[in-house]
Amino acid sequence: MTAHFDIVVIGGGIHGVGVAQAAAVRGYRIRLLEQGALASGTSSRSSKLIHGGLRYLESGQLRLVRESLLEREILLAIAPSLVERKAFHIPVYADSRRKPAYIATGLLLYRLLARGPYGSFQRIPARQWDTLDGLKTAGLKAVFRYYDAQTDDVALTEAVARSAEEFGAEIQTGTRVIGIERTTLGYEVRFVRNGSVESCLALTVVNATGPWVAQTLSRVSPAPPRLNHDLVQGAHIVTEGTLAQGVYYTEAPADGRAVFVMPWRGRVLTGTTETLYVGDPGRVAPTASEIAYLQEVLTTYFPGLSARVESSFAGLRVLLKTAQGLNARARGTVFLTDDPTPRLVSIFGGKLTDYRRTAEQVLARFRGVLPDRAPRVDTKRLVLPTR
Ligand SMILES: Cc1cc2nc3c(=O)[nH]c(=O)nc-3n(C[C@H](O)[C@H](O)[C@H](O)COP(=O)(O)OP(=O)(O)OC[C@H]3O[C@@H](n4cnc5c(N)ncnc54)[C@H](O)[C@@H]3O)c2cc1C
Repeated sequence: MTAHFDIVVIGGGIHGVGVAQAAAVRGYRIRLLEQGALASGTSSRSSKLIHGGLRYLESGQLRLVRESLLEREILLAIAPSLVERKAFHIPVYADSRRKPAYIATGLLLYRLLARGPYGSFQRIPARQWDTLDGLKTAGLKAVFRYYDAQTDDVALTEAVARSAEEFGAEIQTGTRVIGIERTTLGYEVRFVRNGSVESCLALTVVNATGPWVAQTLSRVSPAPPRLNHDLVQGAHIVTEGTLAQGVYYTEAPADGRAVFVMPWRGRVLTGTTETLYVGDPGRVAPTASEIAYLQEVLTTYFPGLSARVESSFAGLRVLLKTAQGLNARARGTVFLTDDPTPRLVSIFGGKLTDYRRTAEQVLARFRGVLPDRAPRVDTKRLVLPTR
């Protein structure tokens, strides 16, 4: 007999498991299908920051920053073993493009948007600069310290998935969706598992396949509307060394872009880049020029650290096509629906930090189709399970 669900979610990245959790706490019958392992796509290749996104202030995305700062505080409370408050440092040199007054104004705005006790920032006195993990001091004019947070993106995704399962969600990995066909009541979803083709029926479907979003839409029949977007690759390198004081927010010497140098599992993680990507999302990998670009950032600001790359990885952002440069494009989440009363919602873009709010927004789109159900627990207060 064919299984029936209120919601079938395709994709087991942070967005997919977030929707599964939000649906499960409302008692919906929910199944999530993931082709590989949980978080095997973008959700294991992020910068691992739970943050408002200071740099998004430069492109005027105040609302996104404000909402992400709220989510940051929620995640710090519900996942204390997975999300850690961290000091972030912004060094400003004589030749930096962003001057001290500009940085101080940005941090002031960030503090206003954060509205909490951790919105504070300080200018670190010059006599303390030698405590900053070997940061280059030649030409240094100022160093600002403020607070954001860091996580393990894979562990966070897995924890949200376990939480969803605790409330009854069915999560199947190693299951690739190959067809999504409209029926009178919703969709029939066909998938391949252990080499055989199976199917299930769903009143509603969520396409949470990240950079595969268009590929998944191409499997929907009848063909739904499309959104013009780019895949933008971001690379990171992992090198030897430790950063005891926290994260550093630097300007790439090559082009002035903001690049993070971060402590990560007893190593140093430097990223990211922004390179237009065309091709199979499953084959994304850092290019030689991206690695050289990131090594230059590292050796410029931390001349004492080794730039020998131990490992590297790249992920893909989904950014809507606009006339703006890649760096200035909106980072918020965009939803594409099949109908004015949607039964299929596709998620474009978004942030790890905002997964919980994004999931709530997806479910709100199904109000006309699914019976209205209050959550048994508010995910704002639902502590995520630890291993
Ligand atoms: C370089 C980079 C750095 C980032 N840094 C940060 C950061 O520091 N902080 C932050 O908040 N955000 C960050 N982001 C954004 C964040 O990582 C992403 O928004 C988020 O991980 C996207 O999750 P997702 O679930 O939409 O996609 P994904 O994690 O890519 O998940 C999609 C899943 O769908 C599965 N799938 C695809 N096709 C099928 C199919 N046919 N059947 C079944 N399953 C399928 C894939 O296997 C994959 O697991 C960053 C993004 C990038 C690219």
